[in-house]
Amino acid sequence: MKANISHLRELQAIDQKISTLDKEIAASSAEIGNRRASLDGHKDTIVQLTEKIAASEQRRRELEAELEDEQSRITDRQTKLMNVQTNREYQSILKETEDGKKANKLREEAVVQLMEQIEALTAKIEEETKICEEDEKMLADDIAAVEKKTSQFTAERNKIMKTRESKANAVAASLLKKYTSIRDKRNGLAIVPVTGGVCRGCFMNIPPQLYNDLMKEDKLISCPTCHRIMFHQTETEEE
Ligand SMILES: [Zn+2]
Repeated sequence: MKANISHLRELQAIDQKISTLDKEIAASSAEIGNRRASLDGHKDTIVQLTEKIAASEQRRRELEAELEDEQSRITDRQTKLMNVQTNREYQSILKETEDGKKANKLREEAVVQLMEQIEALTAKIEEETKICEEDEKMLADDIAAVEKKTSQFTAERNKIMKTRESKANAVAASLLKKYTSIRDKRNGLAIVPVTGGVCRGCFMNIPPQLYNDLMKEDKLISCPTCHRIMFHQTETEEE
């Protein structure tokens, strides 16, 4: 039983290394994912800003067409003004001309506002584009670094997996099955030390009789609370 326990402990140490490597690999790929999402966010902003500019340009063209139409009506009225017969007609044309001029003044102001808006939006696009370019460059560098790291992790993992295989072969099949099943259920920890009568997996006291059995090291004993396989460890042995 002592040999089995020692094999399982070695196996667990290897499995913990593997799971650390797996986490590192996953974290790297998540980081890249986040960076890509942020870059996509900036690209979306550029698309939205471009749409806003297009809408403002459209409105500006409409206003300029209206301005031109109004201006030609004003010119027509000025020609008419020279041939009017009555004062009433004269006053009426004069008023229409004044109204037209007022309307055009408002249109001109609106055009100026739109142009300022377009200018601001264009500046914002330039800013976002710069961020995108920088992000893209950094992302490319980061992806290369992460890929390098990942391939190192993967190589290390493959090496460890080979060691694991030989360790796993040294453990009886039924015990290995038990180990795997507990490990899956208990957060990667299947075999735990007991120190001072306390299971280091769940930190519960174990019954004195069980503790005595554990000291004998002649059979496999599981924690009554967390069901992990236990082994006795003196306080000084503690890792
Ligand atoms: Zn326990």
